[in-house]
Amino acid sequence: MRVHNFSAGPATMPLEVLERARSEATDWRGSGMSVMEMSHRSTEFVGIAAEAEARMRSLLGVPDDYAVLFLQGGATGQFAGVPLNLTAPGASAAYVNTGSWSAKAVSEARKYVDVRVIADEKHSNYATVPAEGSLEVPTGAAYLHYTLNETIGGVEFPYVPDAGDVPVVTDASSTILSRPLDVSRFGVVYAGAQKNLGPSGLVVVIVRRDLLGRARQDVPGILDWTAMAAADSMLNTPPTLAWYLVGLVLEWVEEQGGLTAMEERNRAKAELLYGAIDRSDFYSNPVEPSARSWMNVPFLVPDPALEKPFVAAASRAGLSGLAGHRSVGGMRASIYNAMPLEGVQALVDFMTDFEKQNG
Ligand code: PMP
Repeated sequence: MRVHNFSAGPATMPLEVLERARSEATDWRGSGMSVMEMSHRSTEFVGIAAEAEARMRSLLGVPDDYAVLFLQGGATGQFAGVPLNLTAPGASAAYVNTGSWSAKAVSEARKYVDVRVIADEKHSNYATVPAEGSLEVPTGAAYLHYTLNETIGGVEFPYVPDAGDVPVVTDASSTILSRPLDVSRFGVVYAGAQKNLGPSGLVVVIVRRDLLGRARQDVPGILDWTAMAAADSMLNTPPTLAWYLVGLVLEWVEEQGGLTAMEERNRAKAELLYGAIDRSDFYSNPVEPSARSWMNVPFLVPDPALEKPFVAAASRAGLSGLAGHRSVGGMRASIYNAMPLEGVQALVDFMTDFEKQNG
């Protein structure tokens, strides 16, 4: 029996995708072998890779003047990849700090570039994003970096910051494909795969082509966007199985009706869960309502001593992965694309019962 898995990533995947993968596991479409066993240079795998890229482009409406790369090293690798590809030594870059993941991006970037943190939401204990129009991006900055959705804090930007001529770079790891995104507003969008795209092992980097060619001489090859774009992301052996599975997930998103359908479903799921939290005096979510994440919903019970019993009882009820991140505690429900509305309803029903017993 499958549980409802609320883990933040690796995360639940569509059952249809898992079943399709199982049916193709020993013989991929008459090739006589599994995808795991194929050369990444084979016609079959090159086709799988190209198809995944094409689906990503069409789903997100990626303009032609952007490269779409499938790389390794996770979003964490791109915390270094961004400055190494976009700046020369001694340059500066602007960062917004909305929580744990932006802070990690900042500390990695500091190794390579003069980081200017132009907004820091510490004042609200990272429950807000900067007001729209309030960011002042220094003209000399090589780029502006922000985290579109903070997976731990559950804070999501409801707007795309305007940085004038300065390219905007965003970490969309925990929100990509959850609703439409106007890629043309960005210089770079990157996202680790293990939330809305498939299993871990890949990070997708969407980069405007005029930003290629700015990498430092000493950038490692596997982080070098220009070299990777020229090699169709196969400068070295890619994680072929993960790439194939991402392709199946993208096909599934298409079958669901694409990003507008995902947006409707995700809005309904988020409204259901936040509504239940807000109506109760027992549960709480600290995030400013307009900046609440549709994907990661952290919540608290009145007494921290009830957290472990909550998570344990939920697990017995077939609701898995609800413990908050180890750095912050509390609870967190990650409700990515593959989490159905029924899963969120089951969680809300469980929360109501738990409150009755413990409130
Ligand atoms: N950025 C965000 C917003 C994340 O949620 C995560 C992973 N949870 C990362 C970066 C790091 O990703 P990875 O582990 O793939 O390097």
